[in-house]
Order: sequence, then structure tokens, then C-alpha cells
Amino acid sequence: MRKLLLVLSLLSIQFVNAQEVKPWAAALKDLTKQEHDVIVNKGTERPYTGKHLNNKEKGVYTCKVCNTPLYKSDDKFNSNCGWPSFDDEIKGAIKHKKDADGRRTEILCAKCDAHLGHVFKGEGMTAKNTRHCVNSISLNFEKNETKEKVKEVAKKDKLSRAYFAGGCFWGVEYHLEAIKGVEDAISGYMGGSTKNPSYYDVIRKNTGHLETVEVVYDPKVVSYETLAKAFFEIHDPTQTNGQGPDIGSQYLSAIFVKSPEEKKTIQKLITILEDKGLKVATKIIDGDVFYKAEDNHQDYYENKGSKPYCHAYRKRF
Ligand SMILES: [Zn+2]
Repeated sequence: MRKLLLVLSLLSIQFVNAQEVKPWAAALKDLTKQEHDVIVNKGTERPYTGKHLNNKEKGVYTCKVCNTPLYKSDDKFNSNCGWPSFDDEIKGAIKHKKDADGRRTEILCAKCDAHLGHVFKGEGMTAKNTRHCVNSISLNFEKNETKEKVKEVAKKDKLSRAYFAGGCFWGVEYHLEAIKGVEDAISGYMGGSTKNPSYYDVIRKNTGHLETVEVVYDPKVVSYETLAKAFFEIHDPTQTNGQGPDIGSQYLSAIFVKSPEEKKTIQKLITILEDKGLKVATKIIDGDVFYKAEDNHQDYYENKGSKPYCHAYRKRF
């Protein structure tokens, strides 16, 4: 009896381990009865009933259980057999297995063994002479559009943001946006206490905000140091009362930092400039909330078709 218990407990441990290495185990549990009948018990859905049969949209068909891409819409064709048909598979995604009857070839998801249907050769239906006859219920469909969106979001997640105040934001935005690796530069306000300030709040009232530009950049293409150097070169960091003709506290030179590393980088650059004899007025301020300015202040020079009057490039490093 004790031996039997030991064997049973060992078996149950193995079972738990097997479940742990299969991340789709939970998805298997969530299958509906109809899905389970086809995917696990290798049944066949009734012909002309599947939801992907007449789908002509561009995209990828993925495994219902483990989400692995299995077929491309480009390989789908109308076979008039009542089930979605493909004359090719995504390389390595499909397992081919002789059926119990010894005649047909079963197709399964190579990753999770979900039953998909059968594959037939030599029917002459397409140039590839192959027909994967697949149950709709074994597949999900992802439109190309959503894949692109996923890529877009992933790219956005990898972007970083830097904050520079150097006078009228129109000019700072114009120059920094031109740097390779900068995806966007946005004019706004930062450093003050007023929430959601308007342009006129910042001009008239004592909000404490500085006209600031948020630079959205890809750190794989351009470094924070390169951006900061450019910032010091497109404005005069020694002016203490504003920038160029724009005088006032909202036009002061400052860099809002978000990390000790950024702070160190700026301190290093300021030391280099001071060694060259510049009396740098640029303040280093811990980054706070950035408020985007009104639409008519975005891409100001680009929309006007003119060049900034208040900022020009001057080599300093
Ligand atoms: Zn799968």
C-alpha cells in the first residue's frame, strides 16, 4: 500500500511538472466543448460551418491553443471542400502524422499538438499540389493591421524621453526634431505648479513653468548625450534672463532630468563648456510633469514654412 501511494505521489508530481512547462495548459482548460471535440479528441467540424472558411482578409492564422502562427492568408485557397484550405504552411509550425487508418495524414500544431485536420497531396488543386484541410475551430485569425499595431506599440515602449527648455519652444522643437533618431519633439510646459497651463497662463501669470520641449527618441539610434550636446549648440546657454529676444522667466535655459545618469551627463557637458570659458546659466532640474502645449504651438515653423528667428546652430563641443 505504501509503495502504491509513493508511486501515485510521484506520478502526480510528474503531472504537475508537465503542466508547468506547458504555458498553454490553461488555454486547453478554457476550450469550449466543440473546440475540445476537435482540438483534443481529433474530431471534425461540420463542413461549411467554420468561421474562417470564406475569410479573405490578409493576415495570419494562429493556433487556438498556443497562438503560434500556422498559416498565412496568402496560402489560403478555395477548394470547395467546406473547410479552410491552405497549400502551404508556415515553416516548422505543422506536425505531419500518419492517421490510425494508415491512409490519411493528420496535421497538428508542432508546438502544442492541437489537432488541426488533414493534409492531402497530389490532388492538383494548386501549383503546390497540397491541400491542408483545417478545421476553423482550431484556428484564430490575426489581421495584418493588428500585427502592425502591436509592432508600433512595442516600438513606442522602447522610446525614451528627454526634456529641454531653451527659450521659445518653437525653435528648440524645430532643431531637435531634425536629429536622426528623434521620433517626435513636442512643445509644452514644465517645472511650474499650475496644472494644465495654457500658453497665456505661462506668459501672464507666475506659473513657474518654462517653455519646454519633450524629445521622444530611440536610444538605439541617438544617445541622451548627443541630444544634450545638440541642445547646448542650438541655444545660448550663457544668457541669464531668457533666450535671444524672448525675455522672461518662462524662457530660461534648463534641462529637466529623470535619472542620476542624465544628471551626470549634463554636469559633464557643463564642465566641458565651462572649461572652454563659458559661464553656463543652464539649470539642472529634477523632471516633473510635462504639459503638452496647444496644437497651434506644435510644429510651428514647419507649418509656417519659415526658420526660427530665436535659435541657430553653433558648434560648442
Ligand atoms: Zn498550438
